Amino acid sequence: MTSQAQRFLEGLPVLAAPPPYALLIVGCGLYGATFARLAADAGLRPLVIDQRQHIGGNCYTEEREKIHVHAYGAHIFHTSNRHVWEFVNRFAEFNNYINSPKALSGGKLYSLPFNMNTFHELWQVRTPAEARATIEAQRYLGDPTNLEEQALSLVGRDIYETLIHHYTRKQWGKDPSELPAFIIKRLPLRFTYDNNYFNDRWQGIPIGGYTRLFQNMLEGIEVRLGIDYLADRSALDGLARCVVFTGCIDAFFNHEEGHLEYRSLAFEHDVIASENHQGNAVINYCDPEPAYTRTIEHKHFDPVGSRSEVTVVTREYPQPCRDGAIPYYPVNSDANQAIHRRYRERAEALPHVIFGGRLSEYRYMDMHVVVEAAMNRARSVLAALTSGDPRRRSP
Ligand code: UDP
Repeated sequence: MTSQAQRFLEGLPVLAAPPPYALLIVGCGLYGATFARLAADAGLRPLVIDQRQHIGGNCYTEEREKIHVHAYGAHIFHTSNRHVWEFVNRFAEFNNYINSPKALSGGKLYSLPFNMNTFHELWQVRTPAEARATIEAQRYLGDPTNLEEQALSLVGRDIYETLIHHYTRKQWGKDPSELPAFIIKRLPLRFTYDNNYFNDRWQGIPIGGYTRLFQNMLEGIEVRLGIDYLADRSALDGLARCVVFTGCIDAFFNHEEGHLEYRSLAFEHDVIASENHQGNAVINYCDPEPAYTRTIEHKHFDPVGSRSEVTVVTREYPQPCRDGAIPYYPVNSDANQAIHRRYRERAEALPHVIFGGRLSEYRYMDMHVVVEAAMNRARSVLAALTSGDPRRRSP
């Protein structure tokens, strides 16, 4: 056994009675479900609990009008990590959907991400050299310290004002000058006529929806829904010596170091008597009005499978995360990062609790990053739990 595994095992609490499960996994989103699957594959017995009444976390899809509706916003899987891609493909076949959103600004539609199509639509330039020269003439030349400066540095003022400024204000409820630069670096910038929103090697949507992918991932694993871990912690902690916690880390510590800021979303779903309403899965709204940032026409995520004669369109409204709203995005300002560091220090004193996923790590992670993080963490934790003295082995 490695010394790291030894230390981990020694840090596990000794319970009054032998626990029925090896791991208690709090949250049935992508991190929790991946961890649970790998634990079960390693011969351990996990219990997964979730406060919601369904599996899948925010990836959850539900069927309406024969269409798989992304109930908590668009989820497009993409990755360049072969292990991650092979892992998710164990549980679903993926279609060949490529995300190519359109952005509406000033009554005109533009291509995303920022590429030669966008530059042609904005400035009528045709060559990469012309596009580069146009951007160069209006770029911010300093060292970017926030999202606004980063965007101006990457693409110049025209694109910033047309496609970034107001969208970002609506999305985050803050001026771009108050936001961290890394957020805008998520978007590709390329000088080819290529509207693929992602640069990754593999991309697609699970055929049959994400919920079915989760059902397959959790096959043979006990899942209890409608259970609020934080409301009944002492009883639930007796079920396993090791906890994987994927909820908000500040809530885990009763907000004792302060409240972390999250951004939430509200959705309005409409069934529309049209076979094809907007002609694309995703349209972004880059003006101050309307208040929503995106409309999603779900059937276009599955152009072959969705044969419904009607369509389901969802408007997505960013909003503050208060009054029990669901947290979606960590707001990684300097002040929030400082609070999070204090929670991280406290988490280190609890080696038997694994904090993972977007809310627990307080990190803006895409789905493939979540799966990868869970795979990496599970590898070391599960190796420790299955090694050593067989009498100390977990159930
Ligand atoms: N963004 C923008 N205009 C757009 C799309 C994105 O300004 O039309 C900016 C905005 O700040 C957003 C960030 O880019 O928060 C990341 O966008 P992405 O589409 O990756 O966000 P997600 O899908 O995770 O909500």
